[in-house]
Amino acid sequence: MARYTGPACKLCRREGEKLFLKGERCYTAKCAMERRAYPPGEHGKMMRRGRESDYSRQLRAKQKVRRVYGVLEKQFRRYFDVARKRTGLTGLNLLQTLESRFDNVVYRLGFAPNRNAARQLVTHGHFMVNGRRTDVPSMLMTPNDVIVVREESRKTEYFKTFVEEAAQRTCAPWLERDLDKFSGRMLRLPERSEIDGNLNEQLVVEYYSR
Ligand code: SF4
Repeated sequence: MARYTGPACKLCRREGEKLFLKGERCYTAKCAMERRAYPPGEHGKMMRRGRESDYSRQLRAKQKVRRVYGVLEKQFRRYFDVARKRTGLTGLNLLQTLESRFDNVVYRLGFAPNRNAARQLVTHGHFMVNGRRTDVPSMLMTPNDVIVVREESRKTEYFKTFVEEAAQRTCAPWLERDLDKFSGRMLRLPERSEIDGNLNEQLVVEYYSR
């Protein structure tokens, strides 16, 4: 299960905007985009973002979506191929597929401050999905799937303050949660308007349709 393990802030600086990959820190003055809003690397400071070609815009849009959801190219391409085969708009299908990932659903339920943390909770086996222990972050959830924090996990340090911390985070409207029961449920797929992050899925479609 490969994933990007380098510095998250570098990805924001490369894209030239905040991707909010680190949770609360992203809203503080410690955010790297507040202090060094130029591309990473030795010559980053001198680099100018001039007029972009169509290809460059499409590539950047694709990289941005990929980085927001923490997916490597090979898997992202697979998601795109699946999205293209489904009926409806390919771009929306792609975003809905990415939103349905187990780690993203845990994040959208407010169970973790960011997707990286959600992924870690999943891989450490803290959740049951429909009554079965599941630790695969890329697993795609479907409507009516139920996620519950395992009884054993509730005794761990993270889950001691879980209810108070999760209550301060919002839950996406296409999900529902019951913090008293440490559980959440997927109600339906998200609408386009419910997927934030300033993503341009049309450019991603154009990128793969070249
Ligand atoms: Fe991006 Fe967050 Fe790092 Fe800021 S703190 S650069 S928004 S990951």
